[in-house]
Amino acid sequence: MKLTITNLTKTYDNGVKAIDNLSLEIGTGMFGLLGPNGAGKSTLMRTIATLQSADSGTIQFGDINVLEDKMALRKILGYLPQSFGVYPKMSAEALLDYFATLKGVRSKSERATLVREVLEITNLYDVRKKAVAGYSGGMKQRFGIAQLLLNNPKLIIVDEPTAGLDPAERNRFLNVLREVGTNCTVIFSTHIVDDVKELCNEMAILNGGRILQHTTPSEATESVKGKIWTKIIERDDLEAMEATYNVLSSNYNQDNTLNIRVYSEAQPASDFRAVAPQLDDVYFIALKADLEVLA
Ligand code: ADP
Ligand code: MG
Repeated sequence: MKLTITNLTKTYDNGVKAIDNLSLEIGTGMFGLLGPNGAGKSTLMRTIATLQSADSGTIQFGDINVLEDKMALRKILGYLPQSFGVYPKMSAEALLDYFATLKGVRSKSERATLVREVLEITNLYDVRKKAVAGYSGGMKQRFGIAQLLLNNPKLIIVDEPTAGLDPAERNRFLNVLREVGTNCTVIFSTHIVDDVKELCNEMAILNGGRILQHTTPSEATESVKGKIWTKIIERDDLEAMEATYNVLSSNYNQDNTLNIRVYSEAQPASDFRAVAPQLDDVYFIALKADLEVLA
């Protein structure tokens, strides 16, 4: 099912325009919403999840008018907020059984089957007897997915789920999400470019409440092919380089020199070497161009 957002706008009481006349179409599969802190990711997700109102605009999911018919959307929605509350000292299994009861699954054996299923999908079956309160960050995030799966959702919204996870936990989490996302629409927000690269078939770059680019990870990198250049410089030369060239990023080498990456249609100077583009390059180009528009 397709999600269509049209001319959505939201200004908070303090005057911050968090969503700025945003239009976006999202199809089935894993959709990555990539943007820095303050871009408007959480605002957009809370609005789609019907937890917050918009000033104007419409959101349509399949035949549901989301902002008009909140209950219809909630029935098919799974939402994992950016920060999750405190968990009681109950085991994952007992807690999921309780949530399933709340959702109206009356039969005990039906609940047991459902709970086992979501525990297995999220790789928590072996630790099902342990208290969720004692889970690691990554296990808690996977528990969040297990919980939203009880709904059998058609639309899943997860807001910055990998923030703060160590690399192993992050991998496990992305694997779970990858499996879950095969037959519904998943909107996944992050400020980590690699999350989108590894997980999503479609993506948008969000900043200042506006979509800067709606693309795919491979299309995005293809679009700057032949335009990314690198050079090794002394750390003291960085400022001068930034004044002269469109420097996207700089990384320290072990000998304290810097590797800079520059965006340019043609070779900036003879001591620059062409490199294969990365999704990070595209992200930095989009954000820098946006800064210049605003300046
Ligand atoms: P992100 O999730 O991408 O970090 P947010 O949607 O949380 O972005 O925030 C977008 C902008 O709106 C930021 O400038 C933030 O400070 C502001 N903002 C978010 N929530 C509120 C709120 N409840 N009241 C006022 N301003 C808010
Ligand atoms: Mg956020």
